[in-house]
Amino acid sequence: MSNINDPCLGCAIVRGDTRTTGGVLARAPGFVLHAVASPSPVSGWVVLTSEQHVRG
Ligand SMILES: [Zn+2]
Repeated sequence: MSNINDPCLGCAIVRGDTRTTGGVLARAPGFVLHAVASPSPVSGWVVLTSEQHVRG
């Protein structure tokens, strides 16, 4: 069974190994703002994630 946290998509985006449409929009100490990784019917959906892995 696949595990969404292993490998961790959020960490891959933070490292730059995975690029979402639009890429990383902003970085602030401890946080990264990026477009949602999976296809979405809502345009402009962004995700604020921590730079450090947080177990899901
Ligand atoms: Zn992670």
